Amino acid sequence: MERIYNFSAGPSMLPEEIIEKAAAELLNYNGCGMSVMEMSHRSGEFQAIIDAAEADLRDLMGIPSNYKVLFLQGGGTLQFSMVPLNLLSGSGKADYIVTGQWAKKAASEAKKFGDIKIAASSEESVFTYIPKLKKEDFRADADYVYITTNNTIYGSRYPELPDTGNIILAADQSSNFLSQVYDVNDFGLIFAGAQKNIGPAGVTITIVREDLLGKAPENTPIYLDYKIHADKGSMYNTPPCFAIYMAGLNFQWIKKQGGVAALQKHNEEQAARLYDTIDNSSLFSCPVNKEDRSIMNVVFVTGNADLDKQFVAEAKSQGLVNLGGHRTVGGMRASIYNAMPDEGVDKLIEFMKKFQVSHRL
Ligand SMILES: *Cc1c(COP(=O)(O)O)cnc(C)c1O
Repeated sequence: MERIYNFSAGPSMLPEEIIEKAAAELLNYNGCGMSVMEMSHRSGEFQAIIDAAEADLRDLMGIPSNYKVLFLQGGGTLQFSMVPLNLLSGSGKADYIVTGQWAKKAASEAKKFGDIKIAASSEESVFTYIPKLKKEDFRADADYVYITTNNTIYGSRYPELPDTGNIILAADQSSNFLSQVYDVNDFGLIFAGAQKNIGPAGVTITIVREDLLGKAPENTPIYLDYKIHADKGSMYNTPPCFAIYMAGLNFQWIKKQGGVAALQKHNEEQAARLYDTIDNSSLFSCPVNKEDRSIMNVVFVTGNADLDKQFVAEAKSQGLVNLGGHRTVGGMRASIYNAMPDEGVDKLIEFMKKFQVSHRL
């Protein structure tokens, strides 16, 4: 069977090349007579896999040596709890910018642990823009400011990071990790679930500045304390070995593409072609503020819910799948993560143009 173009927001497409490599190595990894799924996480073979994955990620993102890279479980969702548990260690205050459902969920979880202020929210306009804030908009004694760099459901992203002055910035990069260049030094903490731009679901990567570790309250459940994972090289307990292996293959693939800057250029070009198609169309429109548009999740609508459904169904029959918007917002969403080939975007644009001609109202 031929592979199809999968525009799912996550789990999402992976580069075919790495799936093929994993398939070739599945029964007998590197001559050791077993698959990665079967090997001890304490074995030399697996240690080499996780070490290489970390080293490649450090290379790709230019992660400074005073930051730890942790391979965790529990998805982005568990980070909504771990971030406040570990970082609310001074005033117990944190300021959240709510730009979508994921940020909203993170803020409501954090409220269980401290004094959380919503510094700004774009909910009143269905999250179609990114609020612009100044240093003075944050509480000077906040332990951290929290953002979601890319809003998977609403298709927006921060065109630039907010200036938080001396306050640490903590960021959920689940849906745009490794898709554009960031300076890790701008953050105290970055996390990302794997199933969008990293690999299969099951591993979550957290990058955290060393001096922020070891400040969680005494009664913090052991797994939720970043320090234990940092001290034990992400091997306090059994890590998600196979997902880490796949992430490592993906990091090698990204290096082969020329690194994050090269991918960013590619991602921006793909997104620009889709937004141009939408903006020049008499049928489709994009509700997101132009300068805040995501280069990973392209959201669009026809303005007619039935027609949207028809678009999604007809696209599927053409091998362009999972183009329905999030169940809470409807419409369409084309997630074009790092692994989406140009041909997938070409085919989608071609289909949009045809659909527009046959369904112009
Ligand atoms: C998908 C997503 C999450 C949730 O991830 P899970 O791994 O399902 O917990 C959190 N934040 C963002 C921005 C996401 O896109």
